[in-house]
Amino acid sequence: MKRSLLGAVLILTLAMPASAAMQQLPERPEFSAEVMRYVGYDAPEIALTNVRVVDGTGAAARENQTILIRDGRIAEVGDAGTVRMGTNAEVVDLAGHTVIPGLVGLHDHSYYTTSARAVQMSYTGPRLYLAAGVTTIRTTGSQEPYAEINLKKDIESGRAPGPRMFVTGPYLTGENGAPSMAQLTGPDHARRVVKYWAEEGVDWLKAYTWISRAELAAAIDEAHKHGVKVTAHLCSVSFQEAVEAGIDNIEHGLLTNSDYDETREPDACSPNLMASVAELDMTGEEVQATFRAMNEAGVSMTSTPVVFEMFVPGRTAMDDRTRAALSPEAAEEVEAAAAQIEERGGISEELFQQALRYEYAFVQSGGLLAAGVDPTGYGLALPGYGDQRNFEILLETDFTPEEVVQIITANGAKILGIYDEVGSIEAGKLADLVVLEGNPVATPSDIRNVRWVFKDGVGYDAAKLTEAIAGRVGRS
Ligand SMILES: [Zn+2]
Repeated sequence: MKRSLLGAVLILTLAMPASAAMQQLPERPEFSAEVMRYVGYDAPEIALTNVRVVDGTGAAARENQTILIRDGRIAEVGDAGTVRMGTNAEVVDLAGHTVIPGLVGLHDHSYYTTSARAVQMSYTGPRLYLAAGVTTIRTTGSQEPYAEINLKKDIESGRAPGPRMFVTGPYLTGENGAPSMAQLTGPDHARRVVKYWAEEGVDWLKAYTWISRAELAAAIDEAHKHGVKVTAHLCSVSFQEAVEAGIDNIEHGLLTNSDYDETREPDACSPNLMASVAELDMTGEEVQATFRAMNEAGVSMTSTPVVFEMFVPGRTAMDDRTRAALSPEAAEEVEAAAAQIEERGGISEELFQQALRYEYAFVQSGGLLAAGVDPTGYGLALPGYGDQRNFEILLETDFTPEEVVQIITANGAKILGIYDEVGSIEAGKLADLVVLEGNPVATPSDIRNVRWVFKDGVGYDAAKLTEAIAGRVGRS
């Protein structure tokens, strides 16, 4: 189906500067044959009937609903039988299914690592994300920024299937940073690098472990001048220091926060960070002071429990679907690394639970928490699969399933400034929807049973996308 190209052109031409609070999203283009391979539903009017709806706002699940999609948007959602559809509507009876908003993954890299490889996933990444119901990603640190910028173009122009992408440019770190990163030598260097990537079109930038306070402050200031936001995986700078520097979002939570490490030197990563958070009381003043600073400045947090989980002995088993997705050599590397964690230890279960409690307490304090997979570490958390696993892990806290759906959908959209367009199932929004077999409210693992993924009202077949990447993750 053709949609108004003229409309798309007008929107692109009149797009607000990125600094405006809300971002305009490009409309869907003509699709290539490679994209059409995966498309199952593509009609001007589609009615998903007799479904359970978890709408992303945190409200309780509603039974027996109909979602009417018209021209790519949610036209109406309500009790089945009360929603009026056109005579030509394609009706999909989904009794026994649950519809949630498309997942918004805020730490969803376009590359993948094991202990032995780092691979740009320009083929498997976008298909896996989409197959798992992730319709929007922020890449949050890129190893090959141009591969990412060009992948985004390919998806937006209809050449490749995949989620909407918010790209982040190279990691900004200090002189002790990793070889693939921009190793900043001072505030002026920070400004130069940020200006370059902002002009190249990145949406966000990500600061990383060894950046100094002065470099971070300069990077943020320069980024904001260009309408670009900044997030960070911190350690040399504490959360409260990053808030003071004007940061927009902070990744990973407790296990990267040096606010509580009394042994730390300014602008340096401390070996005692993890030990310093082990005994923290979440209701205590120290923790609450961090949350107050973040909330007063409107700084959100990204939860990535799945990338920590692989370092917790007792939690390193590879599931069948991960094994099916990985190339044989990558699977071998992952299993060898997992065996080492089981043998030598890593993050204790107690510390892992402490980190989860921190995120729960952050939300109770009024904090805005989103989530993402971070498909790095030694490679047990795959794009999309890990985003789903976050849902299961966050339910180990006192969150309700509906609240966790909100965290993995609506809250990410709010942080990206696109909540007026996606992130919840409400009339007027783009139809980014995940159709799950079963009921994740009662059975959390049903979050894995994705049947259809609608992006812009086009329904992609999750099984076909998954089939396309089988045995290829870790290669491309
Ligand atoms: Zn990461």
